[in-house]
Amino acid sequence: MTFDTLGLSEPLLRAVSEKGYDTPSPIQAKAIPAVLEGHDLMASAQTGTGKTAGFTLPLLHLLADKPAANSNRTLALIVTPTRELAAQIHESVLDYGKHLNLRSTVVFGGVKINPQMMKLRRGVEILVATPGRLLDLHKQNAISFNDVEVLVLDEADRMLDMGFIHDIKRIISLMPKKRQNLLFSATFSNDIRHLARGLLNNPVEIDVAPQNTTATKVEQKIHPVDKGRKAALLSHLIRSEGWHQALVFSRTKHGANKLVKLLERDNIHAAAIHGNKSQAQRTKALAEFKKGKVQILVATDIAARGIDIDQLPQVVNFDLPNVPEDYVHRIGRTARAGSSGHAVSLVSADEIKQLSDIERLIKSKIEREEVEGFEPEHALPESRSGHRPTHNAQPRRSSSNNSNRNGQGRNQRNSENRPSGNGGQRRRSSQQRASSSDGNGNGNGNASAREANGNGSRPNNNASGQQRRASQSRPNQSRPQQERSGNVLETHRAVPSGNR
Ligand code: AMP
Repeated sequence: MTFDTLGLSEPLLRAVSEKGYDTPSPIQAKAIPAVLEGHDLMASAQTGTGKTAGFTLPLLHLLADKPAANSNRTLALIVTPTRELAAQIHESVLDYGKHLNLRSTVVFGGVKINPQMMKLRRGVEILVATPGRLLDLHKQNAISFNDVEVLVLDEADRMLDMGFIHDIKRIISLMPKKRQNLLFSATFSNDIRHLARGLLNNPVEIDVAPQNTTATKVEQKIHPVDKGRKAALLSHLIRSEGWHQALVFSRTKHGANKLVKLLERDNIHAAAIHGNKSQAQRTKALAEFKKGKVQILVATDIAARGIDIDQLPQVVNFDLPNVPEDYVHRIGRTARAGSSGHAVSLVSADEIKQLSDIERLIKSKIEREEVEGFEPEHALPESRSGHRPTHNAQPRRSSSNNSNRNGQGRNQRNSENRPSGNGGQRRRSSQQRASSSDGNGNGNGNASAREANGNGSRPNNNASGQQRRASQSRPNQSRPQQERSGNVLETHRAVPSGNR
């Protein structure tokens, strides 16, 4: 299929071709004709599927023939959770609309409101906004929603997670009843369905995630490590694997700042983006990271949401997220637009609950591999996901040297797959270590539970309770062979369809 068959006008086709796109992504193939026909849309799609062009292209097409917006008014409103995402969507609007005569602007918090009020004074055909600043501008009469013909709610699940539900409802209540509504969400929880019921009129439903043909494959791995040694391991991996551009996730803003300092001390150029940074700092850090001036970008989940960097090769979970769905969003930053990517997680014993939740969500166990010199004293217990690994389309990379089907050693394959890294030769799997440190494979779980409980670095009663139960329930069990694979995830499988 080509873009010409979708019904888009020539100026838009030209812009698409200048972007270098040949084939519409699955969501584009479905969404563009539906929006052009005037339907409401309820689309389940994650960032990376091409959804931005999926709604922006038909929106521009529809608006091109309309009379210009009046002062302090807009014809189309795109509401999205974060500043970065808003800025990126607006860039797409400018890119795809460059051969059209449409006016657009973007508004978000954290920067002065006056310049935004000035831009709205003459009216814009398309306004991209985050909810809070949009309502502030509305309160100050800088924008009226009376002429809105199309409303796009992007990343609706995240807007709800971030507590924007009242803002969203208020914005909707201020609009004319007759309008076209496009709702995009990575997951469809009950809250989103409830919102959709009140918002959408006989929508076309699009769910590209389960049949995702963009085939985003992410090779995942866990490096068990003690909490206090994570930063040193990260530095080691950056050097030994030759990571020139890696996005590192930290659970907290403070943790992100601290990690940047530690990396800088190791002469690794790093920057942090999170909610406490000014918009100017966030924009600068992101721009420098995209240009390759900053090697490591340390981000919290909210700040990183929607970041679009072509072919980001490496994602690192410095901490596992508390919300398991965030793991899927995080690793979705790599393997964009059909390429494959790598995601590694540095996991300490106190994170076993988060790990179990993640493995339960993705219905697969993630391969574990200890890095020589960084073997944890507090062993990472077995997770309690209860899931066996799924079999992957790609060749399995087992963590055990003798488990590979064609008899090659793992080290050899590691070096074939990732020429820059020789780290594989210095590593050994959890399995190897378990058997070398405990010839019978016995008692490992109990020991880890004791150690994890005695760790005391995080007062997480739940986590230690989990560890204790985990080890008690499988005291003498060595891990079955299959449980060590499943290191490649097609991201679409990660969100169970029941959650959509
Ligand atoms: P999105 O999911 O909208 O964030 O888009 C993810 C990435 O895919 C962006 O870098 C887009 O520029 C790119 N992209 C969108 N549509 C296509 C397409 N049809 N062909 C190739 N790349 C695309």
